[in-house]
Amino acid sequence: MSTEQAIKVQPGLKRADLQGAYTFYDAQMDDEALGQWVVDQFCSAGGHLHCGQEISNIDELDAFDRIVNATGPWASKLRNTQPGQPAYELDWVRGSHIMLDRPCSMAMLLQVPGAKRIFFVLPYKDQTLVGTTEIRQTSPDNPGPSESEIRYLLAAYNHYLTPFAHSGDVAATFSGVRPLIRSADNPSDATRDWAFERVGKVLHIYGGKWTTAQLQGEEAAQRILQ
Ligand SMILES: Cc1cc2nc3c(=O)[nH]c(=O)nc-3n(C[C@H](O)[C@H](O)[C@H](O)COP(=O)(O)OP(=O)(O)OC[C@H]3O[C@@H](n4cnc5c(N)ncnc54)[C@H](O)[C@@H]3O)c2cc1C
Repeated sequence: MSTEQAIKVQPGLKRADLQGAYTFYDAQMDDEALGQWVVDQFCSAGGHLHCGQEISNIDELDAFDRIVNATGPWASKLRNTQPGQPAYELDWVRGSHIMLDRPCSMAMLLQVPGAKRIFFVLPYKDQTLVGTTEIRQTSPDNPGPSESEIRYLLAAYNHYLTPFAHSGDVAATFSGVRPLIRSADNPSDATRDWAFERVGKVLHIYGGKWTTAQLQGEEAAQRILQ
């Protein structure tokens, strides 16, 4: 798109230094609804669900023939309750988001000023969702977005868009912790791939994404039956 076309579809874009834009297509989904759909499929296929039961040691599951450790960011914690050196280590990389109380006419991917990474500005439930960050943590637990992450996202947004967004325009914030296989010094360069480790009757899953979850689940099912 030319500068004029870009400003037409996204009137908030600042004109200064804008040389043009390109369009691409991506999908947006409701993770809670998709997760619930998977649960419903499982239950209608005859599966039994036991929710809210924290497993603190794999030994607690001794009565079962086969076990899959699909605890995402906490996978290493359960793996470490078994003997031997784990085959993989996880990097916990927090991604934070802010919700601005204003509409957004079009989704955008923009480069973070002065950094080799991108951030997004998306229309979401009549508001504007801005994300995300990549902050390495020493634990899988989610402390929520820090003040500096909120400032970082506001500064990135304000670099490209008007009207200026103040901290008072932030209607909500949230974050999640990505379970990434340790593979690079810079979390932006870390692989978004996944890996399996079999220890006795337990299959441990490291990493993965929503977009690859079905493939990963099918492979996990084949491996656990071997
Ligand atoms: C900021 C961010 C951005 C992302 N962006 C994308 C994206 O663009 N595209 C994409 O496809 N995916 C994305 N993801 C998804 C992500 O990459 C993973 O798919 C997801 O976080 C991991 O899913 P999971 O099912 O392995 O773990 P989780 O969804 O974290 O589920 C693990 C479950 O295990 C439970 N649990 C943990 N420990 C125990 C225990 N001891 N006993 C019992 N239960 C336990 C937890 O309560 C939780 O319910 C993003 C994630 C984040 C955080």
